[in-house]
Amino acid sequence: MSPNIIINEEKCVGCRICQLWCSYIHKKVFIPSEAYIQVKNVYDLNPKISFLDGCTNCGQCVEYCLYGALTLKEVED
Ligand code: SF4
Ligand code: SF4
Repeated sequence: MSPNIIINEEKCVGCRICQLWCSYIHKKVFIPSEAYIQVKNVYDLNPKISFLDGCTNCGQCVEYCLYGALTLKEVED
């Protein structure tokens, strides 16, 4: 579970762009299963999003999600 990213599965369309970018940025491959964010049940139109151990909280998946399903938590000083 990423402590810094809020998930809103109702807005997720299952495009998996977040997974493609995460795998590319961290492993230099475009392979969704290699990402630290996993989006399941996309074909049931009921996406389930989770983060794997190894997620660095870099926020790039949030940056590339065009649908508002991922939001960075505000960090308090
Ligand atoms: S979280 Fe965003 S980028 Fe990832 S599959 Fe859902 S809509 Fe696409
Ligand atoms: S925060 Fe960074 S490491 Fe974690 S799932 Fe998103 S892109 Fe991958």
